[in-house]
Amino acid sequence: MKKWFETLGIKTRQWMQGRYGADELTKALYILSLAFLIHSLFSPLRLFYIPALALMLWSCIRCYSRNYTKRLQEREIYLRFTGKIRAWFHLQRDKWKDRKNFRYFRCKQCKATLRVPKGKGKIRIHCPKCHSELEAKT
Ligand SMILES: [Zn+2]
Repeated sequence: MKKWFETLGIKTRQWMQGRYGADELTKALYILSLAFLIHSLFSPLRLFYIPALALMLWSCIRCYSRNYTKRLQEREIYLRFTGKIRAWFHLQRDKWKDRKNFRYFRCKQCKATLRVPKGKGKIRIHCPKCHSELEAKT
């Protein structure tokens, strides 16, 4: 049985050689298709079933494709369009991770996010981007 799994692993690696594999867009398509599938399970109309299968098929086609340049172009477009959304999620994750030691403020001039140590009382915060100052309680 162990030998069979080793052979299967080797054959899978050989088959995947030269193929694009999974990237951010492929993962997003797969997660979206799973969400649609779960939604269609509980929805009486099952409207999302066909789009879910289409998205899953698209993510598989991207994953096993050998056309690297086309897949990279698609990835580039996806990353450009979702940049702000992904940055917002990263900021929320960082805020949650640093919630005990830091506070986050937004510069009123340039809208930059400023991270300052927590528990320092009322301080003047200097924005490194636009050099403006704001006063805040940490
Ligand atoms: Zn600023």
